[in-house]
Amino acid sequence: MNDAAIDLRSDTVTRPTDAMRAAMHAAAVGDDQYGEDPVTNELQERVAALLGKEAGLWVPSGTMANQIALRVLTRPGDEVIVSRECHAGWHETGGSAANAGVQLHEIGSGGWFTIEQIEAAIKPRGLPVYPPTTLIEIENTHNRSGGIVFPQAEVARICALARARGIATFLDGARVWNAAVASGRREAELAEPFDLVAVSFSKGLGAPGGSLLAGRRELVAAATRQRRMLGGAMRQTGFFAAAALFGVAHHRERLADDHDHARRLAEALARHHHVRIDLTTVQTNIVVFRLHPDGVDAATVVRRARERGVLLNAFDERTVRAVTHLDVSRRQIDRAADAITAALAG
Ligand SMILES: *Cc1c(COP(=O)(O)O)cnc(C)c1O
Repeated sequence: MNDAAIDLRSDTVTRPTDAMRAAMHAAAVGDDQYGEDPVTNELQERVAALLGKEAGLWVPSGTMANQIALRVLTRPGDEVIVSRECHAGWHETGGSAANAGVQLHEIGSGGWFTIEQIEAAIKPRGLPVYPPTTLIEIENTHNRSGGIVFPQAEVARICALARARGIATFLDGARVWNAAVASGRREAELAEPFDLVAVSFSKGLGAPGGSLLAGRRELVAAATRQRRMLGGAMRQTGFFAAAALFGVAHHRERLADDHDHARRLAEALARHHHVRIDLTTVQTNIVVFRLHPDGVDAATVVRRARERGVLLNAFDERTVRAVTHLDVSRRQIDRAADAITAALAG
């Protein structure tokens, strides 16, 4: 993609900074499948501790982390309760059904759900017709709902109920870093109620790849086998781990800038009569906005914005997403707002 473009398609498009590249270059590496990659070992310990968990496992992608979690915490035929339009159901190309053999039951709205909705959705075990509910998955922040932070008080109630009913819990925390900054809570507090947690290094933290699963030692041991089975066990992963460690150390606090930029962009767009956006959903670095039925459609806005040097994603015919990140400055956000506003014309 041309360097002059302001790329708001995703926070995955960031490229390693010079300092991150230097950390990668300097990494001492070894064969991770023998447990001999020192930087990967350090990352696993450090991030597991940051999340308040016993152990951690580096995996190549967030999608693989989610798929491994399903395989560790469920059996084929089980039902998993998830939020509407969750990543596992919408962005993993059917992997949940293909890899874990589970069905996903979407509940709630706006990226989250309540304990009452969970109580109503849990299917009892031991009946001959129902698929047993064996896992509840929460996505925090929630991508397709505009990066909202799942209310933590509800997380605590939901996970306590799950524990009482013998149902496992999983946090898809690809952007839990953003949730921590936005809510003023530590990552360990956000992760505490869950059996297993996934975090991503390749989104807001700016690493070129890699995610991590964290939880009790026996769950991480099971995840290690599943990683191998899915073909995700690698060798000198320390180059990725070094980038991740750098991102964790240097790019977490600055996520507040991305959140400011998203709000600035959202407020500028909200002034346009063809844009429908609930500003209360703009809590982190994602801006999802809808287009008025009488105006131009999403594909047109994306094409026209591209002609003006701004890259966006269309979610559907009338929904557009813009994501702020490390490689977009405040000045570029203002230019992007002007370009998108121009793209909305007539
Ligand atoms: C990006 C994302 C993932 C998957 O991460 P990849 O590394 O792109 O596979 C999982 N969950 C959520 C919520 C995400 O936004």
